[in-house]
Amino acid sequence: MKLYPTIGLEIHAELLTQSKVFCTCSAEFGGEPNSRCCPVCSGLPGTLPVLNQRAVEYIIKAGYVMNCDISRFTKWDRKNYFYPDLPKAYQISQMPRPVCLNGYVDIVSEGEAKRIRINRIHLEEDAGKLIHDDQTKQTLADYNRCGIPLIEIVTEPDFHSASDVTAFVEKIRLLLQYAGICDGKMEQGSLRCDVNISLAEKDAKELGTRAELKNINSVRAIGRAIEYEIYRQTEILEGGGKVIQETRRFTESGETVAMRSKEDAQDYRYFPDPDIPPIIFTEEELENIKNSIPEMPESRRERYVKEYGIAENEADSLINNKAVCFFFEEALKSYNKPKSVSSFILVELMRRINTGEADMDKLPFKPEDLARLVEIMDTDKINKSEGKNILRIMLESGKTPDKICDDENLWIKEDLGQAEAVIDKIIADNPKPVEQYRNGEQKVFGFLMGQANKQLKGAATPAAIKEILERKLKG
Ligand code: ZN
Ligand code: MN
Repeated sequence: MKLYPTIGLEIHAELLTQSKVFCTCSAEFGGEPNSRCCPVCSGLPGTLPVLNQRAVEYIIKAGYVMNCDISRFTKWDRKNYFYPDLPKAYQISQMPRPVCLNGYVDIVSEGEAKRIRINRIHLEEDAGKLIHDDQTKQTLADYNRCGIPLIEIVTEPDFHSASDVTAFVEKIRLLLQYAGICDGKMEQGSLRCDVNISLAEKDAKELGTRAELKNINSVRAIGRAIEYEIYRQTEILEGGGKVIQETRRFTESGETVAMRSKEDAQDYRYFPDPDIPPIIFTEEELENIKNSIPEMPESRRERYVKEYGIAENEADSLINNKAVCFFFEEALKSYNKPKSVSSFILVELMRRINTGEADMDKLPFKPEDLARLVEIMDTDKINKSEGKNILRIMLESGKTPDKICDDENLWIKEDLGQAEAVIDKIIADNPKPVEQYRNGEQKVFGFLMGQANKQLKGAATPAAIKEILERKLKG
C-alpha cells in the first residue's frame, strides 16, 4: 500500500495598515499590553465598528497578486465563539461573500513547476493574545492585537509534500511583501499557517481523515511538522489503525500532539454583521487599486536576466529578499551597472549579512554609497582589492566611500613618471624573467606585473601599469 499525502493550507496574514480594521487604534506590533485598545476593539457594548478602507484596498491587492476574481459585492459576518482572547465573543469575518475567490499561485517545488489553486481570501479581525504564566498558573490577556486586520488565504488541497508547502509559503510571503501589504514576519506572528493533512492510497476516490496543524511559526517548522505528520499517519494506517480527525500542535521536540478532537467542533452560527454595510466595488475603483500594485518579484527576476544579463541564480538571490532587491534597484539609480552592483551586493554585502555583521534593515549607509564604491572600483579610481576593506569601514562608521578613500589615502594618483621609473627598475632587477618573456614565454608577464602592482599600489591604475610594462618589455 503506497500512501499519498494531500495537504491544504489556511494562511493568516496581518495587514500593514497604520490603524486597526474597525477602529483608529494603532496596528503596530508590540507595545505595552492593552495600551492600544479602545471601546470598539475591546468589545464594549454599544460601540460601532467602522471599516478601514486601506485594509479593503490591501486585500484586493492580495487578490490580484494571487490571480483571484474580486467579488463586486462583498459583506461581513459574525463568527460566534467564546474564548478569552476575543472580548466581543464573536469575530467579524466573511463567510459567503469573501472579497477574493478562485485564484492560483505558481511555485517550483524540488525543481518542478506546480500551480496551487486558491479557494478564497477573506478580510477579518485578529484576536488578542493570551499569556500563560506557568509559575503562578495565571493567564493574562493582551488585547493590543484585537482588531488588527487579517487576511485569511484558503488554498485547495493541491500540495503533496512538505516541499510543495514550504515553497508556497515562501512565495506567498514574497508576494505580500512586494505588494507592500504584509511584512511577512512569521516570528512576530504576522504570517501564520494552519496545515490540513491526510493520507490515502494514490488514486483513491476519497481523501483520508485529516489532522489540522495549528499556528506554526516558521517555514522550517512547517516543513518539519508535515514530515512528522506524514510519518505518524503512515504508521497508524499501515498498522491497520484509523487517523482521528483532530487539531494538533507542533512541539519544540519536533512532534505533533493532539490539542482537541473534532468532537468538540464548534458551530460558529455565522450571520451577517448588522454594523458593517456591504460594499459594491466599481470597475474604476478596482482598476485604480490594480494599477497601484508595485512590480512583482517574478517580473523583476525576468528583467534582471533578460535586460541586465544577470545569471538566473543571482537574480533569484536578489528577489528572494525584498530589502536586498530594493536596495539593488536604488543603487542602480546612481550607478547603472547592474552586473557589477549585483555581484558586489551578493558576494560582499550578503556575506556580512549572513555572518550577522550587517543587518539589511539597519544599514548605516545608503544604496548610492554602495553604488559609488562599486563605481570607483570599476573605474580604477582605487585598487579593486580595497573594496572589501572600504565596505567594512562603511559598515562600522557609516562614512561615504569618498571620505574613507581620502582619510586612508586610497585614491590611485596616476603618477605616470613614478610608474615609468619603478618599472624601469623592475626590468633592470629581473634580467632573467625579462629575457624569458622576450623569448616568448608569456607566462612570466604575470610575475613582472605582480612586482609592479605591489610597488606601485596607489600610484597608477592596473591598466596603466600593464600598458607601460608591455611597452618597455617590447622596447
Ligand atoms: Zn481600538
Ligand atoms: Mn480566520
